[in-house]
Amino acid sequence: MARARQQERLEAVRARVRAGGRRWTVAKGAIVETLIGHRGHLSVQEVHDEVTARFPQIDRSTVHRVLLTLSDEHVVHVLGRQGEARYGMADHPHHHAVCSRCGHEAEIPAAVVAPALAAAGEVTGFRFGSITLTGTCPDCA
Ligand SMILES: [Zn+2]
Ligand SMILES: [Zn+2]
Repeated sequence: MARARQQERLEAVRARVRAGGRRWTVAKGAIVETLIGHRGHLSVQEVHDEVTARFPQIDRSTVHRVLLTLSDEHVVHVLGRQGEARYGMADHPHHHAVCSRCGHEAEIPAAVVAPALAAAGEVTGFRFGSITLTGTCPDCA
């Protein structure tokens, strides 16, 4: 993803958080930037490793706390896997595919499964949030 596009996404997230009356901090900016740059889901430790390279003053507990706040603000969402929470950007609608052998994750664009979820909703009366499909990734297949 182009650098300018990432910057644009960061600005949009910041504007939305501020519009919601929440604070925007250096730690928030650094963490959101890290997640946007990865296009995937990272653990607290992985986010911290990257953030401290540029901001050594931000410790691991701060990263954890800010991720929980961002989750509360619907900026990020949590993908729980084998007991370890992984955080990803929630500003683009997507679902998750997880490999049951190696734990590899991929994002499924929401539009791809929208017809299936609509059909499933019709049958069950359910409304679905984010779904996780378990399977075998290309490397493990
Ligand atoms: Zn996700
Ligand atoms: Zn795999």
